[in-house]
Amino acid sequence: MTKASPAELYAYVKQNAPVIENYIETLAAFGSQPEGGIVRPVYSTQWFDAHKQLAAWMQEAGLEVRADAVGNLWGLSRGTEAGQGYASGSHLDTVKEGGKYDGALGVLAALTAIRFLKELYGAPRLPLEVVALCEEEGSRFSKSFLGSRAITGNMPVEELDQSRDADGISVAQAARNCGFDPDQLAAAQRTDLAGFIELHIEQGRLMEAAQVEIGVVEAITGIKHLRVVFEGQADHAGTTPMDLRSDALVSAAQAVTKINELAREFGRPAVATVGKLSVEPGATNIVPAQVEITVDMRHPDPATLEQLKQRIVQISEEAAAAQGGSVKIDLLMERQAAPMTPEIVNMISSSAEELGLKNMPMVSGAGHDSQVMVEKIPSGMIFVPSCGGRSHSRAEYTPIEEILPGIALLAQAFYRLAY
Ligand SMILES: [Zn+2]
Repeated sequence: MTKASPAELYAYVKQNAPVIENYIETLAAFGSQPEGGIVRPVYSTQWFDAHKQLAAWMQEAGLEVRADAVGNLWGLSRGTEAGQGYASGSHLDTVKEGGKYDGALGVLAALTAIRFLKELYGAPRLPLEVVALCEEEGSRFSKSFLGSRAITGNMPVEELDQSRDADGISVAQAARNCGFDPDQLAAAQRTDLAGFIELHIEQGRLMEAAQVEIGVVEAITGIKHLRVVFEGQADHAGTTPMDLRSDALVSAAQAVTKINELAREFGRPAVATVGKLSVEPGATNIVPAQVEITVDMRHPDPATLEQLKQRIVQISEEAAAAQGGSVKIDLLMERQAAPMTPEIVNMISSSAEELGLKNMPMVSGAGHDSQVMVEKIPSGMIFVPSCGGRSHSRAEYTPIEEILPGIALLAQAFYRLAY
């Protein structure tokens, strides 16, 4: 085996930029809309065509290709020694009118990194695998992370029949229509992987602002969603003097402003968003009797996230009391923060140093398959920048020059782990 130098590897990746660009553009055509954007829900014709194209590319790269029970597509570069190997990949599905890079880039980065390593240095010592995860976005069925939950054994078998799309088609039926065998769900579980690395676009603008090439993800943030309902009293807008009103919208407005101020006070990476508001009865000449808002709050530290929630509850109660009204608060959803595995995180950041890439540690504010994978498999993530932070949109863009460092980094990390 030839001894690699990081510079040689990086040069090879740069030299092959057209290969990567061709992969990205070709894959983006599956599900592309005339007015822009990509629609590629799991098990759709567009998705399955993309799946077949990827399988062909994996084969061309000399990988052993197989699909599991739910249609995760694996490409194996077999190791020369026995031992647990490493995988990399991301999701193949898109949100409605999503971009070219969310998910797809992580799959193609894994494919190219493993392919380039093979071309330069032959077979790895330990197995390396590309995985195109079948579904992450909740693109068709209500539950997301279908692929990574099957791999980690976190998908209940009942979900196959119970989870249905808008047309009433179950996960199992849709998977069967693509030729997969959902009855083999248990066999989709992987207990033989030593690690998983996911490359993804940042989907935010912190990297752009800091002018770094690589984000080394240390944790995926925790989330809580609240529903807050302010109750006041409906009254005539003409005959009820201001001092005799209980206006639920005034309470809500105060709360919205204060929740925003609170998250600013907490500082990055804390965020809090009121994204929905509805007013009852919602008439020009009636004092609002009831206002419902939702609050999305995120922080990677569970104690800080809980503190944020408690302060938001307090703000809401005070805002209701100030109008002589009341408030009802429900926790709609919560998801624990997922710290990435320190050994993998360190491997990524030291590999970035070896390549001379400007990098910084980051918290992901968005959810990713890695948060599911890390429950069972040591995992880490590599971020490359997103132009203007745009994502889940046809405006999503990362130029090839900003993609190459990420692929070189993934290849360098895999070289150190498996060669
Ligand atoms: Zn994604």
